[in-house]
Amino acid sequence: MTQSVSTTCPYCGVGCGVLATTHKDGSISVKGDSAHPANFGRLCSKGSALADTVDLEGRLLHPYINGQQSSWDDALNAVADGFQKVINEHGPDAVAFYVSGQLLTEDYYVANKLMKGFIGSGNIDTNSRLCMSSAVAGYKRAFGADAVPCNYEDLEQADLIVIEGSNTAWCHPVVFQRIVKAKEDRPELKIVVIDPRKTATCEIADLHLPLKSGSDTTLFNGLLHYLKQHNHIDSGFVEHHTDGFTAAIAAAQQSSGTSEQVAQYCGLNQDDVNAFFHLFANTEKVVTLYSQGVNQSSSGTDNSNSIINCHLATGRIGKPAMGPFSITGQPNAMGGREVGGLSNQLAAHMDIDNPTHHDLVSRFWGTDSLTTSAGAKAVDMFNDVASGKIKAIWIMATNPVVTLPDADKVREALQACDLVVVSDCEQNTDTTACADILLPALAWGEKCGTVTNSERRISRQRNILPHPGEAEEDWWIISHVAQRLGFEQQFDYRSSAEIFREHAALSGYENKGARDFDISGLIELSDEQYDQLEPVQWPINARNPNGTERLFTDKRFFTASGKAQFIAIQPRSPVNAPNEAYPLILNTGRVRDQWHTMTRTARSAKLNGHIPEPFVEIHPADAKKWSVIEGALALIESQWGSVLARVQITDNQRQGSVFIPMHWNQQNASSSRVDTVVNPVVDPLSGQPESKHTPVSIRPYQAVWHGFILSRTPLPSINCQYWLQIKGEQFWRYELAGDTAINDSSAWAKQHLSSDGEWLEFSDNTSRRYRAGVIKNNQLESVIFIAPTHELPTRSWLSQLFAEKELSSEARTNLLAGKPGADQPDIGPLICACFGVGENTIKEAIACGDAKTVDDIGKQLKAGTNCGSCIPELKKLLYATAK
Ligand code: SF4
Repeated sequence: MTQSVSTTCPYCGVGCGVLATTHKDGSISVKGDSAHPANFGRLCSKGSALADTVDLEGRLLHPYINGQQSSWDDALNAVADGFQKVINEHGPDAVAFYVSGQLLTEDYYVANKLMKGFIGSGNIDTNSRLCMSSAVAGYKRAFGADAVPCNYEDLEQADLIVIEGSNTAWCHPVVFQRIVKAKEDRPELKIVVIDPRKTATCEIADLHLPLKSGSDTTLFNGLLHYLKQHNHIDSGFVEHHTDGFTAAIAAAQQSSGTSEQVAQYCGLNQDDVNAFFHLFANTEKVVTLYSQGVNQSSSGTDNSNSIINCHLATGRIGKPAMGPFSITGQPNAMGGREVGGLSNQLAAHMDIDNPTHHDLVSRFWGTDSLTTSAGAKAVDMFNDVASGKIKAIWIMATNPVVTLPDADKVREALQACDLVVVSDCEQNTDTTACADILLPALAWGEKCGTVTNSERRISRQRNILPHPGEAEEDWWIISHVAQRLGFEQQFDYRSSAEIFREHAALSGYENKGARDFDISGLIELSDEQYDQLEPVQWPINARNPNGTERLFTDKRFFTASGKAQFIAIQPRSPVNAPNEAYPLILNTGRVRDQWHTMTRTARSAKLNGHIPEPFVEIHPADAKKWSVIEGALALIESQWGSVLARVQITDNQRQGSVFIPMHWNQQNASSSRVDTVVNPVVDPLSGQPESKHTPVSIRPYQAVWHGFILSRTPLPSINCQYWLQIKGEQFWRYELAGDTAINDSSAWAKQHLSSDGEWLEFSDNTSRRYRAGVIKNNQLESVIFIAPTHELPTRSWLSQLFAEKELSSEARTNLLAGKPGADQPDIGPLICACFGVGENTIKEAIACGDAKTVDDIGKQLKAGTNCGSCIPELKKLLYATAK
């Protein structure tokens, strides 16, 4: 019997609906839910590969205390006793929770209630601090509330979409696909991309502004000034519905000057700046879509308000197809915001420093311990752990040893901390390695609750798989610790439905339209109705019982005056400027097929095929200047740390800057945790780290040997300076390099690979090259290639051989050459993860003249016809071949 469940994808903030089906053999499959309004059946490559990630290999399935498996009872007692002891001796601010946008809203609600309401400290913060807290601070300054005005339909109906600081094509692929479709349907829809890098998103841009890192506020101040100078202000809206216009204009005028000066400061072409200003000024339906490039800055909040100012000045808010639209990274960052997951917020979008809110929440929860002050924000929280001010920390569903800036300091802080509790679904992460107590949590497919996506849409996440081992819901774990801390009654939850009803009730409690977050229309949901809850956008209340598509349609804001606030922006330079020792700017970000720290996506061989190894992108002029070579390894250093990455030379990168993705960690790479390099500077208002601007140096990594291994079975450990391990289809791939010579390559190979089977070997001591293949039962078991330089055969053809039931004689003959004979295909690096189509295959089809468009490629090779995530790359290949 098969069973299907509609649920949501656990990766990005698009919040796509997923139909998950279990089959008779116990396997599961997924497809996009055509009824879900976020995606209407679409899924990106990551969502499409969800079924690959649900196996139990490597899962944390039992509680552990100091490395020893324990009972739940002992583990929960140990957590409660440990926290209680610290609270008794040092007060409530000596303990902390660091939580995650991966938690469901119900988990988040209970965690926040326990820390702020009953332990009595503000010390609960979330990894969403790292992704969108500047957007929250910007909205709150402008609207008096953390209220995202827009929805995805607004993007489809707009005549101009300004995408700032977002590689939407890779980071929010289904939103990107919706924009692509809108542009196909209405080619007059204009797209402007503002990003220092020329990313895949630029494939659909009419105009790309590769601005200098840290110059965003100058550009938008320049736009505001231009709008005023050229009479594009909506005076009626400004006069009746806003405050602060005069000061904002004065600041914009003073700081930006002419478009020539703006262009010069931002490092842009003046004609492009004028074209952008003209387009924005003369298009009524404009949505500005922004993400981490805006938020992850020491001016993140100002960046956000400089955008909002331009929408307020033109009255382009609260109407279809218009508005400043911050899109979140995490799947439930919005849910976390709703329940007060940020250390400076109370639950239900209320404020810690507002006495009315404080009184209201205290009465609702029946507590006299509610914190009166904000807790430490993420970076400060781990500084407080390092200094010993925080002595016990509970980390839930996140991996701060990889993702926080100055990440080595975070690890050292946790190693020295008296009590580190980690609840996670994975056994081995860089953070679980620092834990005294490990608590097994449920993963996607097993847990049950709600999430809110970037357009305020609450959707159900439903389980399709049973609880594995002893893993439990996060809210269950937190509640049981709370009960042991003496709060039995207040945390006597039996189901996520019960928690959701309480959350809904708090949102409506004495609200009367004064607070934006109001889901009081869902208070009365029965368990069954909660189970069947359809996706719905908040507010959901007596006035809007079916939810609310768009905010501020009545032009009333949640400020004291009821008016939106302009903010006068004085542009500031990033805190750490490049200097002689660290002359380049490091920008960090994401790749198409990995999520966060790879703990789940790297389980999928299909997803690993796209970009298997960490890389550093650098402009050709900089590569020449710093003597780094395409495909070789480079050492990137800052004053905080260093990483190794494979060099990719591209003029998509601005001169003077480099880009490295943030996903790799110590579990799968020896030295590629990029956040060890990132500066811990934060935005003064939001506390969001400046992850896109760290001064660094780059130089060639002086390896004396390079190599790779492909092995059917994972290897226990590898003895060399640089290693990377990644799962492939029926094999594991290892990239290797060392700065001390291997004396006997054959012996070294035999030490690392299974010696069983037939060994084919080639060794040349003069050129210091060694190659070997091991064949067992007529199948390829492993290959190893070692050379003095990084120039080694491509891995794609050799990888394909692991799928062969029997190694052909041609393959055997060509094995140690590492490349196929003339009549055998080498698909090249993977482009389409869904159908396993490689670059060489696509290039061949284009070169033959058979494929002239993306549609042709799809018809011929199927590439790009499932999730569509690879379409920007297909376009790039078509364009490169046409040149
Ligand atoms: Fe998941 Fe992709 Fe949808 Fe994001 S865009 S929610 S990663 S399927």
